Amino acid sequence: MIQKLVFATNNQHKTAEVAKILAPNYEVLNLKDINCLVDIPETGDTFVENATLKSTYVFENFGLDCFADDSGLEVEALNNEPGIYSARYSGVKDDTTNLQLLLKNMEGQTNRKARFKTVISLLKNGENHLFEGVIEGTITLNPSGTNGFGYDPIFKPNGYNITFAEMDMAEKNKISHRALAMQKLIEFLKK
Ligand code: IMP
Repeated sequence: MIQKLVFATNNQHKTAEVAKILAPNYEVLNLKDINCLVDIPETGDTFVENATLKSTYVFENFGLDCFADDSGLEVEALNNEPGIYSARYSGVKDDTTNLQLLLKNMEGQTNRKARFKTVISLLKNGENHLFEGVIEGTITLNPSGTNGFGYDPIFKPNGYNITFAEMDMAEKNKISHRALAMQKLIEFLKK
């Protein structure tokens, strides 16, 4: 039986990625599908807090099983910035501007280690279950590739010679931080 789950996001890229990962066992509804048009505040200090704020909002207002994720890029040489501020690192919500600022801040840095991290909060029967996915890699010297979004053109996962933006969606979906966290969520849901 297909189960309905709300994914507390407005991001079409993410919805598409996740729907593909969860199909055919689950039907993933996003915020628009349930007519939740509010921009849910992400005022927490951590990925866990922000993911939980979002899932709690949907559960409390719509009474539906819901999961929410919060992700970001942690760069070792930048004290794990941009972290929870990844979407607006430069002050504006623009992928290219943010990516360019990050490259600028990394100029002359020999330690290029970075990781993408995702935390998922699943609110089911009023209980919060947390799942984390991490992928380690390096920040390239220049952007490369046109697929994906965010910092994909400058993130090269360990063991690969291409950036996330040079991979096709199916390939990234197998190894990404979001996919890893999602796999843990799926394992839990299948129990
Ligand atoms: P979110 O919490 O998943 O919306 O991610 C916040 C921000 O982190 C995004 O706006 C991107 O800047 C960055 N980010 C998260 N996941 C990815 C990814 O898979 N590729 C590139 N950037 C990402």
